[in-house]
Amino acid sequence: MISRIEQRCIDKGMKMTDQRRIIARVLSESADHPDVEEVYRRSTEIDPHISIATVYRTVRLFEEAAILERHDFGDGRARYEEAANEHHDHLIDMQSGKVIEFTSPEIEALQREIARRHGYKLVGHRLELYGVVTPADKEPS
Ligand SMILES: [Zn+2]
Repeated sequence: MISRIEQRCIDKGMKMTDQRRIIARVLSESADHPDVEEVYRRSTEIDPHISIATVYRTVRLFEEAAILERHDFGDGRARYEEAANEHHDHLIDMQSGKVIEFTSPEIEALQREIARRHGYKLVGHRLELYGVVTPADKEPS
């Protein structure tokens, strides 16, 4: 079984070793935004011989090939996810570290408008919202 990320690597002509294949699979199956330590932990569950250095190198390689996207959610740890076809932004829960993905046509339009006002065509953006759950939003216990 070829994982989605492995397929993207093959399409880009990258040489795939067994360990790269495992790391590609772990990242393909991650629905969250793991950091390198977490990718390493998940990879060693499949192959205990994978080193953290290999994970670092491989993740960087995938990032340079635009297969992975790197995020900084304010805690100083680089997080990774598969580069999405559909753009989305992130809302980070400052207490739990939970990351919520969202899209907003209004925000997208506003950003294009701001760029346009300054004489630019918008080609990309990064948006991270940081929040804490307010008491009113909590489930009644
Ligand atoms: Zn995301």
